[in-house]
Amino acid sequence: MIKIKNNNYKIIDAHLHLPWEDKYETIDEKYKALKHEMKINNIDHGLLIADSLLDTTIGNNKDCLRIVEKDSNLSLIYGYSPLEREVEQLDEVRGLLNFNKVKGIKLYPGHDDFSMNDIRLDKIFKLCIEFDIPIALHTEWNDDYFPQYSHPFFIKQIAEKYPTLKVVCCHMWMPRVIESLKLTKDLNNIYYDISSFSVSKKYLEKYPNAGFPTKEEAISLLEQIMNIVPNKVMFGSDYGTLLINDHIDTVLKSNLNDEQLQKLLYLNASRIYNI
Ligand SMILES: [Zn+2]
Repeated sequence: MIKIKNNNYKIIDAHLHLPWEDKYETIDEKYKALKHEMKINNIDHGLLIADSLLDTTIGNNKDCLRIVEKDSNLSLIYGYSPLEREVEQLDEVRGLLNFNKVKGIKLYPGHDDFSMNDIRLDKIFKLCIEFDIPIALHTEWNDDYFPQYSHPFFIKQIAEKYPTLKVVCCHMWMPRVIESLKLTKDLNNIYYDISSFSVSKKYLEKYPNAGFPTKEEAISLLEQIMNIVPNKVMFGSDYGTLLINDHIDTVLKSNLNDEQLQKLLYLNASRIYNI
């Protein structure tokens, strides 16, 4: 819970990972770092997103499942890849869904070498619909480095083909937020999280070409999107790489009203991810 202009707000961080840095040697140390960050930033509940890879520095599905099973303030987003172990993953996630242990599925197009129009994704979309959980995906639109794996056109096609599938676009294609929003906002089943909107000065200096916005730009973007689609945007930080604190600071410096703050910080994620 945080206090903004005399009101208290509960917060769900809809986009958390275990930190990747080498200084944390074990999953337990990474978990402790995550819990510390949640505590000092007054996060009431977090969605912990597992990697789709087995060998990873941010925790695979089994690592993250072990954590959420003993922590009622965290829920699991299952990391899925259509590139390998298809039957094994589908069986595993169905088993977890039967016991209500998964709140969403995450895809990593761009990190994994597949595009969102890949027909191998149909099976996981249908499973999400069957259990009424969102599919969350890494979105970027960076034609300097990658093919356009998660181009808004693909996301629109998926949302039109599966009108009961909830699609969460993580990072809102930063930095192409507004033009992507324009292409997708009219689909009722497309949602967004603001993870990676806010990075510290140190990070901006370290990655000058990453396309991250300045603080002022991030505040302006946040205000614009909350005026256009107030019921579709969720607070998220991408902690593990970025900082919760930077994202909270952007919210605090914005001119959002009480209703917008409640929706952004808690109500939208609670409804969309059924928390
Ligand atoms: Zn992430």
